[in-house]
Amino acid sequence: MRLSEHVHLVGSGWLGYSLSDRHDGHVYLVEGGTASFLIDAGSGLNTARIAARIEAAQVPPVTHILVTHGHADHAAGADALARLLGAEIWTSPEVARMLIDADEVATGLALARSAGVYPAALSLTPTEVHRRLGDETFTIGAATVRCMPTPGHAVGHACYLVDVDGARAVFTGDLVFARGRVAVLGTTETDVGALRDSIAAVAATGPGALFPGHGSVALSDADRHLAAALDAFDRGQLPPGLLP
Ligand SMILES: [Zn+2]
Repeated sequence: MRLSEHVHLVGSGWLGYSLSDRHDGHVYLVEGGTASFLIDAGSGLNTARIAARIEAAQVPPVTHILVTHGHADHAAGADALARLLGAEIWTSPEVARMLIDADEVATGLALARSAGVYPAALSLTPTEVHRRLGDETFTIGAATVRCMPTPGHAVGHACYLVDVDGARAVFTGDLVFARGRVAVLGTTETDVGALRDSIAAVAATGPGALFPGHGSVALSDADRHLAAALDAFDRGQLPPGLLP
């Protein structure tokens, strides 16, 4: 499903467009001229459907999977997709450790699975991570990508700011969603102060399009969507949640 000139949605669950397994977060495919890359990888419960959508998009080879954070709906499918595509997995050092160790406690999978959020069949496999990303900028094909460490929603969370052909987009994972919504997971996992500071840091980069990990996307006016969250914080309130 093509969202813009360079961005396709190839996986999405019931909090989005139901393109793949219902437990999947959004899996974005970005065309960067001579190479393509994914932002997040879904739950791994229906990697074949995501792979079929990537193939149908007829884009240059997928060389990288950039992972926003360790939650299973974004990261558990990374290993299978990377093997299938021959792609490298790049993510923050904290998330790299979770994936390499298949740490189902640190990623929150063990707790979420026991609460019935995920089926018993969903598990993490030890995953090869090819590069640990700090706050740094690199190129993939014709795209310039900045990895921004954005703690708050979860430990090791990162956003990816992508510039290609003069268009700037930010892929925010679960940091912030359209209309300034957020996902706060208890008091132990989500650091609300860090969440606010990370959203402010993303807003300061002046993105045009907002591609979050769930829900609707914003093809322009990302600043307004981010400002909606920051306005709530400024009033001493928590922005509205992604889930009702
Ligand atoms: Zn998450």
